[in-house]
Parts: sequence; structure tokens; C-alpha cells
Amino acid sequence: MNDRLVLFGTKGGPRLIKGGSWPTSQALVLNGNVYVIDAGLGVTRQFIEAGFTYDQLESIFITHHHSDHNLELGGLIYTSWVGAPAHKINIFGPSGLKKLITHFIESQSFDINIRILDEGLHDIRECFSCAEYDQGVIFEDDKLKVEALRVQHPPIDDCFALKFETASVKIVFGADTTYFPPLAEFAKDADILVHEAIHLGAAQKICVLLQETKPKLWAHFQASHTSCEDVGRIASAANCKTLVVNHFVPEIGFNVTADDFEKAIRTTFTGKLLIGKDLLTIPIASN
Ligand SMILES: [Zn+2]
Ligand SMILES: [Zn+2]
Repeated sequence: MNDRLVLFGTKGGPRLIKGGSWPTSQALVLNGNVYVIDAGLGVTRQFIEAGFTYDQLESIFITHHHSDHNLELGGLIYTSWVGAPAHKINIFGPSGLKKLITHFIESQSFDINIRILDEGLHDIRECFSCAEYDQGVIFEDDKLKVEALRVQHPPIDDCFALKFETASVKIVFGADTTYFPPLAEFAKDADILVHEAIHLGAAQKICVLLQETKPKLWAHFQASHTSCEDVGRIASAANCKTLVVNHFVPEIGFNVTADDFEKAIRTTFTGKLLIGKDLLTIPIASN
């Protein structure tokens, strides 16, 4: 299996619009192993559409507990449980992960218990492990090290950028964050840096439209997310080989285009830039 990054969902926020993108999730394939990073709505559909099979789902990493990153975590685990022979899925996430999974399993206990009795399925509760992590190395084996860096995404304290490092490649996911220069150091010389972006001009217009229902949205955007220009600054300082942008606010097609994002990022970054879209596959070459 070729090493690659596959973007499943590329919009910021949990809201869906007709014909739009899915919220954030992606898969990283390294040395034949599949690692899913975040599990926003649509992750299961996109996992299958990208050509993966349920038995390949072995590791899931959640960056933080905003719903556009975890809303379908339960659904993904559940669908894998009914879709493949019993196998273990290792789930990593910040504090709150165990509660999230436990409550999901409880909410589906009627169906789960029926299927165990009626279809002879292995108990789902024995088909996964949950590890709550903090900053630092959160996973390590002979082929891969995964390290977490706390970023700034108020009001959430436990939001973490994740670095996946093998003997030959370094891939960093910035999670959701405001402009955070330590992230550039964390992602120094990365082969791929995946970073969120907010287009301030377009976002401001959306906030005016939503003023009645979400009067504090503009303040949240400014405090918790990174402008296109600052995304370019982080990527330049990190000297990453490729910058992949995702988690678009507003989503592309909603008062803003991919070109608008690219132009704004290009004011501060001259390296290789990919504007993400759902199901975009980015090959990862071993050095
Ligand atoms: Zn988000
Ligand atoms: Zn968030």
C-alpha cells in the first residue's frame, strides 16, 4: 500500500450545506498502516469512498473535542464493528475521550446487545482501546512516533497538533489553532504540514449574516483560528516541503473560493501549496 495522505473532510465547523464539504477528518498511510486523524461527520462515508476497508481501521487520533472533529467517532467505530471481522481499534484523544465513547456505546446499547445475540458478533466493548493523552509522545513503536503539541484554541485547553514521524518522513497536523509560532518549530522541516485557514474578509461577511444567531462568532474566529496570511508565516518559518491547507472558514463555495485562500496564503508563503478538498490524495515519497 502506497504511503499517502487522504483528506476526507476539509471544512471548518459542523454545519453542512448542499453540495459542500464534510467537516474535518483524514487518513495517513505510513508503512502500510492506516491512521485516521479526526472523525468529523462524513468520516465513515469518505473512508470507504477512498477505497479503504474496515479491517484496515486500526488507529484513530482525535485532536480535540469540537464536534467538527469527533461527531462521527462513534459511528466510525460502530460501522467498522459491523463491517469487518473482530479486530482491535486503538483510539487516542484528549481528556474526555473515554466519556465520549462510553456514552456513544450506551446510546446504542439496544442495537449492540441485539446484534451480539442475534448475529453472534463479538462484543464491541472488547474491540477498541481508548487512550487519553496530554502533550508529549503519545504513541511509539519500531516504525512510528506520534507526538502532541498543545496549541492555542480557546476556550478549549486540550487541543493538540500531532506529528507523525518515521525513519524517512515527518507529517504534522496543526489541528485548530490561532496563530501559534511554536507550531512552526514543532513542524520544522516537515514533509507535509496540514494547517487550518480562515479567510478573514469572507468570514467577517458570514458573521454579519449570522449576527442574530451567533453574535460572538467573530470574536471566536479571531481568538481561535489562523488567518491565511499567518498560515503562510507558520509554513515559511517551519520550512515545510508541502503546505496542505484544510478546515476552511468559511468553507470553499460559501462566499469564498479556493483562489481567494491561495492568493491570501501566497502573500507570505512561496513553497509548495495544496489547497485541500475532500478526497484529495497526496502521495508521500520515502526519502
Ligand atoms: Zn474545527
Ligand atoms: Zn476546534
